[in-house]
Amino acid sequence: MPGLIVVGAQWGDEGKGKVVDVFSAHADFVVRYQGGANAGHTLVVNNVKTVLHLVPSGILHPKTTCMIAAGVVLDLAEVAKEIRDLKAAGVLANPEQLRISDQCTVLLSYHRQLDQAREAALGNEKIGTTGKGIGPAYEDRASRRAILFSDLFDRAKLREKLEHSLKEKNFLLEKFYNAKPVAVEDVEREVLALAEELEPYRCKDASFIIHKALKGGRKVLFEGAQGTMLDLLHGTYPFVTSSSTLSGSACVGSGVGPNLVQKIVGITKAYTTRVGSGPFPTEIQGDLAERLRQEGGEFGATTGRPRRCGWLDLVALKYAIRVNGITSLALMKLDVLSGHERIEVCTAYRLDGQEIKELPVSSTDLTRVEPVYRTLSGWSGDLRNVRALQDLPQAARDYIQFVASEVATPIDVVSVGPGREQTLWIKPLFS
Ligand code: GDP
Repeated sequence: MPGLIVVGAQWGDEGKGKVVDVFSAHADFVVRYQGGANAGHTLVVNNVKTVLHLVPSGILHPKTTCMIAAGVVLDLAEVAKEIRDLKAAGVLANPEQLRISDQCTVLLSYHRQLDQAREAALGNEKIGTTGKGIGPAYEDRASRRAILFSDLFDRAKLREKLEHSLKEKNFLLEKFYNAKPVAVEDVEREVLALAEELEPYRCKDASFIIHKALKGGRKVLFEGAQGTMLDLLHGTYPFVTSSSTLSGSACVGSGVGPNLVQKIVGITKAYTTRVGSGPFPTEIQGDLAERLRQEGGEFGATTGRPRRCGWLDLVALKYAIRVNGITSLALMKLDVLSGHERIEVCTAYRLDGQEIKELPVSSTDLTRVEPVYRTLSGWSGDLRNVRALQDLPQAARDYIQFVASEVATPIDVVSVGPGREQTLWIKPLFS
């Protein structure tokens, strides 16, 4: 049963999109299982850049079927735009290549309005959401007022659900946030036009199809969005996203049992970044941070926001390995660390005078920890043209070895650039 989950082992933006694109060449299905258009995956193929928010990163491989599963909040306008852009670029000629589960939660313009009005009202206390309406859409799902993708094709039910949902949303927008209310007719018109455009991609039983594929020995890759530390339950709450980003969510979000998954690959950068507010123990400031940001192109794919940058945090990485059950790692962006005389790696924290090796569960404690660093030798030279592990400078190989042995987990892939060819395979992943 060759099910493989790709999961972000840090705060997101680890390079999952590239890994999924590279693995997809060997996959029959790629399934996106949580999050929404707040995630942005950047793929670079033959120097052409494609940014995807909802469509799975396997879409550039014509023989791979891409599935948007029930756990995803589906921004209709965004997914329709992505499909149009892909078609204009000559991708997705066959609609069968993209399947959207009938069980997905639909995200509409009023979710975005509510998200933005809330963040604005929070002022300095804001979470730093992308303003894409993800939180309000998941809230609708939990409070049983969500519009599902299947509802778009039942006009009477759609109207009834929209009226029900807007009654409360408009009250909040107008009376609580002093914002403009939304007219049900306008939303309905927009939704019906998008429903027609998206109908060819409709999938009535995604869970059954994925299960059948796994049982039949087909290769299924589950693509995570965001990262472990942003998980709703196990991340740095409240500075988290509104879905579960852990590997377990792949099974829940797509409706298959965990016994059908064989491998869980954690994606980590060779350093750390974080977008938005919240604790980040190994954050660095000043010229060094700016250098990592520029060299790594650390600006959000969805919002363009500069990412906060810091050294690799092995305490947080070990936590990610534990809560996801990660079986191996992909170490990304090693090229970005070139040219530093010394590289720091956080191996423990100091909290209230004690050295600790486990991540504190309380976010308040996590803001108080001081990182304990091990200093390793850096290396010089451009790694982006290296194509084999043995051609890396010795210090870079030592760095990889040090990380793998500290976290007691094999590193199966090392990445030295955004392109497919800039991937050093240590072990084939779908074996
Ligand atoms: P994701 O959300 O985890 O898919 O990550 P993003 O796409 O937001 O960020 C990763 C960025 O790093 C993208 O622009 C990738 O093209 C780029 N990238 C991926 N791997 C590497 C690498 O090994 N080296 C460099 N320099 N860039 C990389």
